[in-house]
Amino acid sequence: MSVRVRIAPSPTGNLHIGTARTAVFNWLYAHHHQGTFVLRIEDTDAARSRLEYTENIKSGLEWLGLNWDEGPFFQTQRLDKYQQAVQTLLDKDLAYPCYCTPEELEEMRETQKAMGKAPGYDNRHRHLSIEEKQAFEAQGRKPVIRFKIDGDRTIIWQDAIRDSVSWQGSDLGGDMVIARAAESDEPYGQALYNLAVVVDDIDMQITHVIRGEDHIANTAKQILLYEALDAEIPIFAHSPLILNQEGKKLSKRDGVTSIDDFRKMGFLPEALVNYMILLGWTFPDSTKEIFTLEEAAAEFDLDRVNKAGAKFDWDKLDWINSQYLHQMPADQLTDLLIPYWQEAGYTVDKMDRGWLESLTALTAPTLNRLTDVIKETSVFFSDSFEYSDEAMDLLQQEGVTAIVTEIIQGVSNAGSISQEDTQALIKQVTKSQKVKKGLVMRSLRASLTGELHGPDLTQTWLLLNQLGADKTRLQQTLAKIAG
Ligand code: GLU
Repeated sequence: MSVRVRIAPSPTGNLHIGTARTAVFNWLYAHHHQGTFVLRIEDTDAARSRLEYTENIKSGLEWLGLNWDEGPFFQTQRLDKYQQAVQTLLDKDLAYPCYCTPEELEEMRETQKAMGKAPGYDNRHRHLSIEEKQAFEAQGRKPVIRFKIDGDRTIIWQDAIRDSVSWQGSDLGGDMVIARAAESDEPYGQALYNLAVVVDDIDMQITHVIRGEDHIANTAKQILLYEALDAEIPIFAHSPLILNQEGKKLSKRDGVTSIDDFRKMGFLPEALVNYMILLGWTFPDSTKEIFTLEEAAAEFDLDRVNKAGAKFDWDKLDWINSQYLHQMPADQLTDLLIPYWQEAGYTVDKMDRGWLESLTALTAPTLNRLTDVIKETSVFFSDSFEYSDEAMDLLQQEGVTAIVTEIIQGVSNAGSISQEDTQALIKQVTKSQKVKKGLVMRSLRASLTGELHGPDLTQTWLLLNQLGADKTRLQQTLAKIAG
């Protein structure tokens, strides 16, 4: 049977990194086995689901390159299928109406708490007589539908990541609600999460349910539902969670968690996907840390997924992102950088494309994130700049004024300069001022950029020269030293 997997996000927020990582594992598994990857939007929570979140989830998956083969399917368009399943379970006497009011349930929980017992439904309406039911109905009570859970059962499954997992039926909180109370005259209302998921996974012929380990208790409940509906149970695989620095599940409280945030911060989709894979899986050649989705898919299997959660490590993500940025062709990287330059108000639209690509090539090795380009290239886009303290110290050293003065003369004579001109001029100044070449280079860098460190000096100079900005800067520097 061919592999069919799915990602089933609830559109109650933007695409979260945890969901995206689950999507990555599903995508890899599907592609490794030439299977099918299904997108299902679990939008039954009408109060919290929003269309814009669905759009965000879809565009986030697309941006990451996680294209789906079927869907998106929407649970709100499939409600009648869930109702049918509720009816089947009622007909089989595997489910029953429960008329408890919220107050009664609350009182029950309080009593359980006082007695030091775990909270859960005590199955009190499991065996109501017809008369008792009628009496509740006569009071106008609308029942929820509960699915019977055998407390004596031990639910065991072979998890494709965690090996054998077992769960006690008595730890599932009592008979579970599978349908809400009706709001109108129907016998019961909308079906709930666990039932809807099982109905869909059966209907969509899902063979492997790969999802976060926070769903383990749901899996135990869902296995009981598969049995009750006489359906084949899929293989379950629970992946470890992504943790914050405190070792807790990475959540909205940790700030950046949505895929959109990562995009805005200047991460490349290839790098983010690469990092998400590494967070829970190792390549068979464990020294290989940079790989594409396709390369990972060729090798991917669930046995190599870690059982333990992994802490999110920004430095590692930055490093991976930098590897992609450093090897990207300048024209392609320039296209990616332009929006960041524009957003920073830099006048890139006026710049010659060749000049921009040279600037990209010059600064690419210094970038960890696309956003770093704003700081790294600011000196090329503004007329004024600050001198760092160390640059100022250098510029005030004896002999530097004479060095800068002679360079200005050289530049004035040459107008537009070439790489050879810059070399010749540096050599000439070194000789005539009787100083070390390093001092000339440092004086030049400090004068042109206000810094002592930065990317290749000759290239920096040439790019400024092409803007006609080098001479002005050198003159400003002289004035600054004198002032
Ligand atoms: N809708 C669930 C969620 O967003 C996922 C359900 C599942 O994967 O079974 O967490």
